[in-house]
Amino acid sequence: MPGSHGPVGYWTGVDVEGPPSGPPEYCGRAAAGLGSQRTRRCRRPGQGKAIQRTNARVYLNADDPTVASLSRFVAPGRLVYFGLESPADGVAALKTAVDSAHCPRCDATLRFSRTFYSHLGHYQCPRGDFARPGTTVAVSSIERADAAGSAFTVQTTGHCYRAEMSLGGVYNIYNALAALAVARGVGVPIRTAVRSLEAAKPAFGRVEEVDWDGRLLQLILVKNPAGFTQVLDTFLRSRTEMNILIAVNDLEADGRDVSWLWDVPFECLAGRRHNIIAAGTRAGDVAVRLHYAEVESTIIESVPESLEELHRRTGPGEQGYLLTTYTAMLSARRRLGQAVEMSTIGSVSR
Ligand SMILES: [Zn+2]
Repeated sequence: MPGSHGPVGYWTGVDVEGPPSGPPEYCGRAAAGLGSQRTRRCRRPGQGKAIQRTNARVYLNADDPTVASLSRFVAPGRLVYFGLESPADGVAALKTAVDSAHCPRCDATLRFSRTFYSHLGHYQCPRGDFARPGTTVAVSSIERADAAGSAFTVQTTGHCYRAEMSLGGVYNIYNALAALAVARGVGVPIRTAVRSLEAAKPAFGRVEEVDWDGRLLQLILVKNPAGFTQVLDTFLRSRTEMNILIAVNDLEADGRDVSWLWDVPFECLAGRRHNIIAAGTRAGDVAVRLHYAEVESTIIESVPESLEELHRRTGPGEQGYLLTTYTAMLSARRRLGQAVEMSTIGSVSR
């Protein structure tokens, strides 16, 4: 990084973990993921203390009320907000998978004039004590954000820059925006940072593509309703007859509670003739949830065996989707590693 700059931290979202009856504190970490609706009232932000202890410049997603509320731990001079300003891209009402639709100050229900997904949008408290802050780095318009990739315009200090990247989905645009805001803050010309997005490769399980005997498999990590909803919207909602494997484990790294599956709008897959396999230690829970969404599936608990079945069902030249939780992704990658070269196997530990 050029120049001399202090530490930075950025938050695109907050993972809220633990059962609803657990201790009211964040086990939060910087992530694009969002916790389940039933944990939304747990908010004694341990993160705030961590922020207070540093002199870091802090980059916050203005569109996420929980993240924006972390500003109370940061001196104004160290605070930078980023977000989506594009009015054409949101919808006027909150849909499913809402995590924090309540004011972090007074607990009133926030009013949203626009939502981009989940509870990310433009909001204000009806009692006037909390509202979405203005942004320094913003996306002013989105041309596309689908399975083929995304294209959007970034606006900062009166200048606009068009950006393209191979990653689709509005959630990936938020991640890119966070990276651009930080890059700008440490002195990288925004034009240079925008160009580097075009060469960005998906990280572990973030829409990685694997060619297995001519079958193009897409590996996508799923771990909460907000992210899963984005995956359905971006890759599957408009498709028919896709081969899909949904593998959900409930080990420590996945989270023991899988009730969040009921907050995922699987109903959008109904009537589309998809071939779906439910896998993992909670394959039965996946199949039951799908059944109530009027989507049928085959249960194969073993992740490696379910992957072999996905391979059998997917013809040469066809696509298959692997939607898995964290440890199920590790199992799937181990099995795939026996068939194809996967350079990042073994480099991820947790
Ligand atoms: Zn309020």
